[in-house]
Amino acid sequence: MDSNGIAVTAFSPQVGKKKYAKGNLWSDGARRAVGIDPARYIPTSTAGIYPAFSEQPLAFVEQTIAYVSEQAYPLMGEFEFRHYMSPRQYRRGEAYRDVTIAIDSEAGQRLFAFAELSGIPFEIHYEIEDALLDPLEKMLAHYPKARVIWCHLGQVRYRTRAINYDPDYVRKLIETYPNIYFDLAFGGADSVYPGSGEHHATVWQGTGVVRPEWVQLITDYPYRFLAALDMGGDRVNEINQHTRNLRAFINNLPPETREVVAYKAAWRLLFGEEF
Ligand SMILES: [Zn+2]
Repeated sequence: MDSNGIAVTAFSPQVGKKKYAKGNLWSDGARRAVGIDPARYIPTSTAGIYPAFSEQPLAFVEQTIAYVSEQAYPLMGEFEFRHYMSPRQYRRGEAYRDVTIAIDSEAGQRLFAFAELSGIPFEIHYEIEDALLDPLEKMLAHYPKARVIWCHLGQVRYRTRAINYDPDYVRKLIETYPNIYFDLAFGGADSVYPGSGEHHATVWQGTGVVRPEWVQLITDYPYRFLAALDMGGDRVNEINQHTRNLRAFINNLPPETREVVAYKAAWRLLFGEEF
């Protein structure tokens, strides 16, 4: 973090397979990290991923609500409601990471309702598919105070499944729903999703160059977009590369917009104050 110029990061631990097998749905890792080095980490609730959330979505959400309420976490997630295998998992044949939990399932309803009541935002991983857009919009409308961060802006892994998604659609979401936010963790311009053979980070026009429609949208609504690295526990060694990618993206924005996206937007969203 120091060598990449990152002052503070949201840290969300995960429940590994062994701990899950012993009945754990929660990890205290974020509190331990903050205890060791309080200035660097924003404690974030346990990651809603395999196996804890995928296998027991409702019980996991209930557990999350209990801990977050008692221990005052400022951020929850990321919850994988619809998740394809990541490029690595695809290569390893880890098909159990292909997850579908309906956003309007009981687990989803509980999470949105808690976020609405508590004011604590949460992150979702929700692959971009036309058929999934309507249910998400219904939830945003039904829980207007539940603040949702949809991770991986513009990460389309199968174009044929996401005909209706483009910068205009995201603009419409932002203008219709005051409670939707987006994070900016995605691959570089040359990154290809092995499942489809497509360039899945659709924000790029070419190496280091962002499509002007995205630049305009973010410039118009900078507080809806959050810098993010999406560093999984199995690839923290990639922090240099992820940071370079994020900075390359942010450098396409006007200087005052860069400042907002890099940290001011997150500070306002999480802590309700101007940085
Ligand atoms: Zn994700």
